[in-house]
Amino acid sequence: MNFYVLTLFPELITQSCRYSIVGRAIMEERLTLEAICYRDFADENRKRRVDDYTYGGGAGMVIQPGPIVRSFRSIETRLSPRRRVIYVTPQGRLFDEQLAIELSQEDDVVFLCGHYEGVDERALDILNAECVSIGDYVLSGGELPALVMIDAIARRIPGVLHNDESADIESLSDGTLEYPQYTRPVEFEGRRVPEILLSGHHANIGKWRRGQSLMRTKERRPDLFEKLELTKEDRMLLIAAEDEKTQQQTV
Ligand code: SAM
Repeated sequence: MNFYVLTLFPELITQSCRYSIVGRAIMEERLTLEAICYRDFADENRKRRVDDYTYGGGAGMVIQPGPIVRSFRSIETRLSPRRRVIYVTPQGRLFDEQLAIELSQEDDVVFLCGHYEGVDERALDILNAECVSIGDYVLSGGELPALVMIDAIARRIPGVLHNDESADIESLSDGTLEYPQYTRPVEFEGRRVPEILLSGHHANIGKWRRGQSLMRTKERRPDLFEKLELTKEDRMLLIAAEDEKTQQQTV
C-alpha cells in the first residue's frame, strides 16, 4: 500500500513517519510513503509562493488550485484504480476505525493537506477529493490529521502489526473500549493488580476482561454502549464488573 501526502511541509510528514510501527512498516516495505511539496509546483514567477488572497475579501490566505492539481498530476500515472483521494478538513466526515479498515484495503491513498484558510475549492472538485476530519476542532494545517490517519490505517494493513500486537483486541475494534491493562510490579503504591489476572485461568480472565470492557464503554462512551447488542452472558459479566467496582469503592 502506498501513501502520498501533498503538503507545504513534506519534512513534517517524512520525519514523523520514521518512528515506531509506521517507520518499521516502511523499512519492511509493507507500505511506502511519499510527501510532495506544493511549492515545487508553484505558478511561474511566484518564487515558490502557493498562497494568495481570498476572492470576496476576508482574513487569511488560500492555497492556489494550480500547485495542488499539478502536484497531484505528478503522481497520478503511478496510482492504481484502487485509490482514494482525501482532503483533510474539519468540514469532512469524521475519521474512525471503520474508515481506517476500509482505507487499508486500497492500493493508494492520497492526502491533500490544507493550510492558512484552506485550499481553492476548484482543486477539490477537479481531484474529486473526499473530505475527512479527525475531530471537531480546527488545526493550523492538514499534516497532523494526515499523520493520524496514516498511523491508524497502517495498523490495519496485514503484517504491519507483528503477532504480539493485534489490532483486533484494541479499543473500538468491536465497538467497545479495551479493558484495563497492568504490568509489573504486582503492587504499586499500595494498589495491587486484580487477583484474577494473576490466576493463570485464561477463560476466567477473558470473562473478566469482557465485563471490564463493557463497563468502561458504558461509563465513558454511552453513545457506543447504546449500539451494542449484548448477549445474556455479556449482561451477566457487566453486572459482575459493576458489583466488583461497588465493592472496591466501599472498602
Ligand atoms: N478555514 C477552514 C475552515 O473553516 O473549515 C479551516 C482551515 S485550517 C486553519 C487549515 C487546514 O488545516 C485545513 O485546510 C485542513 O487541511 C486542516 N485541518 C484543520 N483542522 C482539521 C481537522 N479537524 N481535521 C482535518 N483537517 C484539519
